[in-house]
Amino acid sequence: MSEYYSVKTSFYGKHCPHDLVKRFGSPVYIYNERIFRERCREMAGLVSYPNFRANYSIKANSNLELLKIAREEGMLVDAMSPGEIYVLEAAGYQANEIFYISNNVSAEEMKFAVDRGILVSIDSLSQLKLFGRINPGGKVAVRFNPGIGAGHHEKVMTAGKKTKFGVNMDFVSEVKGILKEYDLKLAGINQHIGSLFLEGNAYLESVNSILSIAKQFEDLEFVDLGGGFGIPYHKQEGQERLDLSMLGESLTKLLLQWSEQYGKNVLFKIEPGRYIAAECGALLGTVHAIKQNYGTNYVGTDMGFNVLARPVMYDSHHDIEVYKNSDISGANEEMVANIVGNICESGDIIARGRRLQKVEEGDILGVMDAGAYGYSMASNYNNRLRPAEVLIRESGEAVLIRKRDTLEDLIRNFII
Ligand SMILES: *Cc1c(COP(=O)(O)O)cnc(C)c1O
Repeated sequence: MSEYYSVKTSFYGKHCPHDLVKRFGSPVYIYNERIFRERCREMAGLVSYPNFRANYSIKANSNLELLKIAREEGMLVDAMSPGEIYVLEAAGYQANEIFYISNNVSAEEMKFAVDRGILVSIDSLSQLKLFGRINPGGKVAVRFNPGIGAGHHEKVMTAGKKTKFGVNMDFVSEVKGILKEYDLKLAGINQHIGSLFLEGNAYLESVNSILSIAKQFEDLEFVDLGGGFGIPYHKQEGQERLDLSMLGESLTKLLLQWSEQYGKNVLFKIEPGRYIAAECGALLGTVHAIKQNYGTNYVGTDMGFNVLARPVMYDSHHDIEVYKNSDISGANEEMVANIVGNICESGDIIARGRRLQKVEEGDILGVMDAGAYGYSMASNYNNRLRPAEVLIRESGEAVLIRKRDTLEDLIRNFII
């Protein structure tokens, strides 16, 4: 299968998927360091505006080793919870590199960030008042909702008139009132309109909106334009990549023009999550059963939705590659099947009606572009063990970077 993405990119390097599974078990997440670094650099270099930083949104993939690499690549980071802040600190990030984008949090959670000197983004007038009471005279950021959203699925549209996120852009004067009341300094404003856009227009439109909000505030240090940069999940059908050079050019023009009017080269940030992590990861799993139920073929694997939730949660498509156990059998035959996991729910489906090279028991499947929102959404549902994570280093070496859960992990927190 020479057209496979893994072959074109030499994804597994000198390792073959069967050997990786033998060595690290199945299922297993495999990451490629070179691809991860490339994506970091593409985002960091998106525009030629001079004061620009890419801020990795770590909820996409917060493996400690990947976080360290992102830091080497000069990425800033955002966190969505105290847990993410804790992991970022463990990876070596300093308070001034972390941006806590809060959403409906308790006073304790807000203090957790404030006590560490981490800048907090506030999501509502109600929480801005809470912040003012906790940290009067402090620095803060406010997340606005520009009234337009984008995304591949309703669940990942994170702005627009029908979502819970951000402060309505009509409330600028209310925000100013609260800032004044608590003597707060507004360091910056941010937005995030949604996830997985593959053409830049909605993003540019949202940038225009946030810039029009930004100019109503004096002396901002930064404006954060949000993430959502998409990747082509349908590579096997020839889906095009997001045209970064075109988007970058338009953005550069906008940002230069705006900061000239504003009278200051404010720092502009973007918040890519998926774009950084998705394509560097593949999920390998093993085929344990082939069956036909009333005319439908099923390929039964160990990749339940506890391991990869995206297909079930968002109806997402992932390209699937077949790695045959033996080269001889069925090389030119094809089949159409539902590829399913081992969880006790009929919705446990990775791919529906997928045309594949004919699969047999013992074959390995590669679920591609699984580096973002893969492991980070994995669970112990059905008391299954979350898989191991393995990194293929630039040097070619394959190293374990997170152990598979153990059975003991499943009862660790019980009071016995
Ligand atoms: C999830 C999220 C991101 C990253 O989204 P991607 O689609 O993965 O780029 C950025 N900013 C915020 C506030 C988020 O919640």
